[in-house]
Amino acid sequence: MPDGRFAPSPTGDLHLGNLRTALLAWLFARSDGGRFLLRFEDLDTVTVRPGSAERQARDLAALGLDSDGEPLHQSDRVDRYRDVLARLVADDLAYPCYCSRREIREATQAPNGEPTHGHYPGTCRQLTSRERARREAEGRPPALRLRTGEPDVEFVDRLLGPQRGRVDDLVLQRNDGVPAYNLVVVIDDVDTGVELVVRADDLVSSTPRQLEVARVVGMAAPAYAHVPLVLNAAGDRLAKRDGAVTLADLADLGWSPAQVLGALAATIGLAEPGEPVTPATLLERFDPERLPRQPMVFDPTEWATPPATGGASPRGSDPA
Ligand code: GLU
Repeated sequence: MPDGRFAPSPTGDLHLGNLRTALLAWLFARSDGGRFLLRFEDLDTVTVRPGSAERQARDLAALGLDSDGEPLHQSDRVDRYRDVLARLVADDLAYPCYCSRREIREATQAPNGEPTHGHYPGTCRQLTSRERARREAEGRPPALRLRTGEPDVEFVDRLLGPQRGRVDDLVLQRNDGVPAYNLVVVIDDVDTGVELVVRADDLVSSTPRQLEVARVVGMAAPAYAHVPLVLNAAGDRLAKRDGAVTLADLADLGWSPAQVLGALAATIGLAEPGEPVTPATLLERFDPERLPRQPMVFDPTEWATPPATGGASPRGSDPA
């Protein structure tokens, strides 16, 4: 019963890539009777758009991807993150870092200007209290970094198999005071009982960092299944500018949510093209072993008009 979740950043409407990942996360959780939780990663007030979380929740419901309980908003949980950060600082497992992005970039470049490894070079790891005081006096706001031994962290992804990554002293709190993604994602998943994280495979390289955070904080990390991304014709991660890619855009072209669900299901081998399906049918058909391992490439011509069949209502029941 792997309880799962979908954790979008409410920075605009969900596009087909996000919706496909949400469908997969929902299928992994629900096909085994697990809970499916919705969480809005809304800490970055620069990118969050008012009303976006509500629209995202509405679009998921329109596809029939139901979730348990009220959605969690990270902005309501800042005290919890600060408690964990304070404990890490008190235990000397986190330290203030005064480096600017530019300093880190310069320090991680070889003399020929090529980046060496891109990892944080540890500049502020061993600052004395006097050195810290001097930087404080210069008015530099510090970030907080995890004190690691730069371990190689290995894990077995449910879909991708064995993975490994070198972890550096990653940022736990940004220098604008915002708790960082790699910290809060771990705290939230563990606090809410998430057992299997299903998300797009552009985040697979973050997973060793998150496993290391979990280990240092003393939390039992969930398992992970990274699913293939949706790409545009140029091979980049799908974005809103790539065409009619949100439910609202597709509705303007005549697509019902049920038809979008059917078309997404077809891209993961769970429906014939144009076949009306309900979420319940998809749950019966879902088999993680048979998921396509290739990214889906968005072809606007395939999405220009809805299929001739109407598509069952995602909320409707299956025909007997
Ligand atoms: N909020 C992240 C995103 O929208 C997802 C984080 C996650 O699933 O771990 O890309």
